Amino acid sequence: MGGLTVAAAQRCVIEAMKKLGMESVPLQQALGRVLADDVRANRDQPPYDVSAMDGFAIHSADVASVPTVLEIIEDIKAGDMPQKTLAAGQCARIMTGAPVPQGADAVIRVEDTKSIAETLSPSSLPPAGERDAASLGEEMFNRVQINVPVKPGNDIRERGESMKTGEVVLAAGTEITPGVVGMLAMVKAASVPVYRQPRVAILSTGDELEGLDDPLDANKIPDANSYALMAQVQAVGIEPVLLGIARDDPDHLRGLLQRGLQFDVLLVSGGTSVGVHDYVRPTLEALGVQMKFWGVAMKPGHPMAFGVAPLTWVFGLPGNPVSSMVCFEQFVAPALRCIMGLAKQHRATVNARLACDIKHRPGRTDFVRVMLSKDGATRLAMPTGNQGSGILHSMAMAEGLMVIPAESKGIAAGEMVTVQLLDGTAYQSEAGGEW
Ligand code: AMP
Ligand code: MG
Repeated sequence: MGGLTVAAAQRCVIEAMKKLGMESVPLQQALGRVLADDVRANRDQPPYDVSAMDGFAIHSADVASVPTVLEIIEDIKAGDMPQKTLAAGQCARIMTGAPVPQGADAVIRVEDTKSIAETLSPSSLPPAGERDAASLGEEMFNRVQINVPVKPGNDIRERGESMKTGEVVLAAGTEITPGVVGMLAMVKAASVPVYRQPRVAILSTGDELEGLDDPLDANKIPDANSYALMAQVQAVGIEPVLLGIARDDPDHLRGLLQRGLQFDVLLVSGGTSVGVHDYVRPTLEALGVQMKFWGVAMKPGHPMAFGVAPLTWVFGLPGNPVSSMVCFEQFVAPALRCIMGLAKQHRATVNARLACDIKHRPGRTDFVRVMLSKDGATRLAMPTGNQGSGILHSMAMAEGLMVIPAESKGIAAGEMVTVQLLDGTAYQSEAGGEW
């Protein structure tokens, strides 16, 4: 049987990939894409020294010995510009994000102060008849007691602390996450330079296949691969084009393959084995596709092929639905992510404890569909049941692909294994093992 190892085949695929130039997309559609150019700040942020707290802008020398009482000369909210300059003994009430006034070199948070009203005990007030309401009000509201000394710069966010005009805030190659979208909005990047996504076509092959919209015929096999592969491509963030089903007929196949070769990436499932009706290989070669490999030492997925045409990367995926999906995960998803400019191309892996014995004959890397659960602090991996490469149910239930290295002679319950996570969007830059 033989064939390349999974790792060697992955390297062969990735080495053949390149990015496809750049395009601009609206910020609203940039999530998941990769920046094709550096993004620079177009303003200082914050635009002036601002308060990091609700409190009082003060001159720190005035509060060297505490408690001390300062006169409040102004109220400054976020969005206001201060109108006054602080003199000795003065302060300004200030809100988070508001500009610090001239003469202040620190902010003290409101929790470290006491309003004069709070400091007055009822017995310290003049008798009711002698109170001058106006002057008492002024006394209470225009002064504040500072209880804690602070150093210069305390709770002030300096001008340009988040970003300075002209500096690179996001480098080319950055994956656009929600946080990056926020940063792009900060620099008002309404249109974002990103690497172009590959255009992907999907073709199923086989006389036995029945299309989704065809009438049900009990003798036929429903075309699951077109749609499972479609969903896998969508999960990478790309909307593929389905070319339908090619019959096991060289001319029909040829016409559809020619259409597929107009795309950046062509995925063909089925017909990649060596049966007499497996016309995919000779037809691709006749159309000028240079095959890089045909056959990988893996299970499921042995008849996996990869080739390059002038415009197109071509993946020949096995017809068995599980094999086709597993091969997509190992080869196609990393390739698509590479073309998009993403540095993290491989599914994130975790370590898990195997829940039951698994037999394995050395020779091929095995990808076992597993469900994951927690056993105290460790993860437990439990195979999804029948692992036949036609049993798509195993893929529908799987949360991960457990990797059995080619040389393994079987794994006993309780041993630690590596599992590629199929859920979520976590990817990593290394495959997680050489297998
Ligand atoms: P092949 O690689 O063409 O020999 O196909 C291997 C097995 O996968 C056969 O049992 C096919 O019926 C099945 N198969 C091939 N293509 C598909 C498909 N698109 N959807 C579901 N099963 C398929
Ligand atoms: Mg076939």
